[in-house]
Amino acid sequence: MALSDLNPVERNEEGIATVLGILKQRFGERFQTGEAIRGQHAHTTTYIPTQAPDGVVFAETTPEVQEIVRACAAHRVPVIAFGVGSSLEGHTNAPGGGISIDTSRMNRILSVNPQDLDCTVEPGVTREDLNRHLRDTGLFFPIDPGANASLGGMAATRASGTNAVRYGTMRENVLSLTAVMADGEAVTTGKRAKKSSAGYDLTRLLVGSEGTLGIITALTLRLQGIPQAISGGVCPFPSLEAACNTVIATIQMGIPVARIELVNALQMRAMKNYSKLDYPESPCLFVEFHGSDAGVAEQAEMFGMIAEEQGGGPFLWTSVAEERTKLWKARHDAYWSSLTLRPGAKGLSTDVCVPISRLAECVTETEADIADMGLVAPIVGHAGDGNFHVLVLMDLDNPEEIALAEKFVARLNMRAIAMDGTCTGEHGIGQGKVGFLRHELGHGVDVMRTIKQALDPLNIMNPGKILPAAG
Ligand SMILES: Cc1cc2nc3c(=O)[nH]c(=O)nc-3n(C[C@H](O)[C@H](O)[C@H](O)COP(=O)(O)OP(=O)(O)OC[C@H]3O[C@@H](n4cnc5c(N)ncnc54)[C@H](O)[C@@H]3O)c2cc1C
Repeated sequence: MALSDLNPVERNEEGIATVLGILKQRFGERFQTGEAIRGQHAHTTTYIPTQAPDGVVFAETTPEVQEIVRACAAHRVPVIAFGVGSSLEGHTNAPGGGISIDTSRMNRILSVNPQDLDCTVEPGVTREDLNRHLRDTGLFFPIDPGANASLGGMAATRASGTNAVRYGTMRENVLSLTAVMADGEAVTTGKRAKKSSAGYDLTRLLVGSEGTLGIITALTLRLQGIPQAISGGVCPFPSLEAACNTVIATIQMGIPVARIELVNALQMRAMKNYSKLDYPESPCLFVEFHGSDAGVAEQAEMFGMIAEEQGGGPFLWTSVAEERTKLWKARHDAYWSSLTLRPGAKGLSTDVCVPISRLAECVTETEADIADMGLVAPIVGHAGDGNFHVLVLMDLDNPEEIALAEKFVARLNMRAIAMDGTCTGEHGIGQGKVGFLRHELGHGVDVMRTIKQALDPLNIMNPGKILPAAG
């Protein structure tokens, strides 16, 4: 993707120079303008070119975020929130320059309410930090993107992961949040009640808004009890179709699977080498069940029978924590293991999501497309949600390869949309998928634009993301 292909945002040189002066004076060492640090705060995870902000502020409190936003609003300068920068579609880039607000120092856990199964945290707390903090409470936070992302970033991208089939995504797990809006006012979108009919659902408007409507400065999250027993294992299949049909049957039979992850043969080869897994190089399902000792054993047996009916198996499962941890570590390391399939290559990680009844068709057609186009591109998927990822490995110095990868991704997005699905199940739109939003939502894009104009009339909140420039 060339810089010229990204949504353009005009630079306001005078405003930027003024804000740089104000922030330097106000924040001292907590405001940085060095090239390296600015580069780290732009998009760094895929081949999308880096567009660095002009300065980075390490904010520590909501009032500080308000001050920064007010200064940026007064001088019409873009402001881009930053968690840990693991987003994959150019989300943290600064196409018109501006100020990156790094939330890593807003990392306090403000309260944990075990009786109510909730907690309130600042946005820079990462999902692993939170779970470490909760360890002795018998509770956990289930949303687990492959990266150790910040909870603010996860809310902003409406992230999910392997547990979403059982526990939902950030949409279901953020009870309320506090955000600094484009005029510098802070709004809290709800209390801690499990449900509410009180007016427009501002929580869900902000969840998934990718920093384009407000900067999240606190989140109240749902927690879950750590299950008494967990069982899980890996089941090989003769084809992707057989694996997908097993997923559908498992869900339709109401087996409360906690994780059910699809891995294609090429990805299994990568995992065998990188994570030393001893399974065949064929499509596999990684599954996990949560419940009582008897419950998880029964669920694993039932799953094994369904898999066998589809020609799969043997399904080897275990309740031993160390063995399960090894399997799920391998699954979470899928991105890194894939890179070994083509040393020196960089990955373009893309995700789509379709109704589960179309999953087999979508994944099978996509695998055929990968072969026809001569790409090296393993597939993994949160199959229980109809969501899967393709990591296209390519030589960044070869424009032809980049063009081919973009063509493949465009075909994949349009295939998913044509199957009544979405061009992104969890990564978000950022810059990379702007061109597909109207295909998916039609006039819905105009409604989004109206909301954006009402809440951010100066277009300072992460401009150039989600919404197409025009048309
Ligand atoms: C190896 C790997 C595996 C991944 N696997 C998954 C996966 O399984 N599921 C999944 O959903 N994602 C996955 N991702 C993508 C990524 O981890 C998620 O998008 C994550 O939610 C981003 O969080 P972050 O803290 O890195 O946010 P950042 O990248 O820092 O920011 C992402 C977006 O959120 C905005 N933002 C950040 N903080 C705030 C805030 N406080 N207020 C408002 N806006 C904010 C930013 O402006 C930006 O638009 C993966 C990424 C990698 C590298």
